[in-house]
Amino acid sequence: MRRPIIAGNWKMHNTINEAVELVNGLNRNLADVDSVDIVVCPTYTALSDVNELLIDSNIALGAQDVYWEEKGAFTGEISPQMLKDVGASYCIIGHSERRKYFNETNETVNKKTKAALNAGLLPIVCVGESLEEREANRTFDVIKDHIEGSLQGLSKENMANVTIAYEPVWAIGTGKNATPDQAQEVHKYIRGLLKDLFDEEVANNTRIQYGGSVKPDNIKDLISEEDVDGALVGGASLKVDSFTGIVKGAVT
Ligand code: PEP
Repeated sequence: MRRPIIAGNWKMHNTINEAVELVNGLNRNLADVDSVDIVVCPTYTALSDVNELLIDSNIALGAQDVYWEEKGAFTGEISPQMLKDVGASYCIIGHSERRKYFNETNETVNKKTKAALNAGLLPIVCVGESLEEREANRTFDVIKDHIEGSLQGLSKENMANVTIAYEPVWAIGTGKNATPDQAQEVHKYIRGLLKDLFDEEVANNTRIQYGGSVKPDNIKDLISEEDVDGALVGGASLKVDSFTGIVKGAVT
């Protein structure tokens, strides 16, 4: 039985004060939820203050990216050890916006994932096809490429700490979510890839989140699909009420 996981990707939103206000609201609303893993991923600048508010909370802290080196002359980057130091447990890696705007490749996603795991972080590894790729019937090829490239060289033991996020690029921030059938089709395909790459146990145990215009009114249908284990949420994670609705909608 895979425990649902709902993560909020705040992207480049929220000052420290706004982040604190949002987390205070989530702490109030979600304190009684004990059957879902809840994660918030603020900007780097708000991590420390948000962490203070999560110390006795059922909400975990995540970052939105990480670099693969431990320290050194890498201006502007943040290491996995620094994220651990500030209190993060999770880290989103390979979000499509990083792939699109910051030249993230499967190779860098793979390096970041390994470095995060070595530091004891729990990576949320993002994969997903663009609209052109879907329309050209290349969805499965792209997903295979992302999964194989991003997870290359990981052990079965590593995989116990990895979450996959399937995020079709055409559904992110567009208000046009994948239908539950579309999500299930790809999630099932990913589980098959995990079986080929690792084994049946890894395939059965790895949590696969769906991401792309998840809202309180579509989470129930999405998560009721057999292979959908939660959601990575962008826009709707920025408001207390909508993120609360999504988390509560994932309670089974
Ligand atoms: C995301 O950025 O990971 C995302 C899924 O965004 P949204 O929920 O806004 O589509």
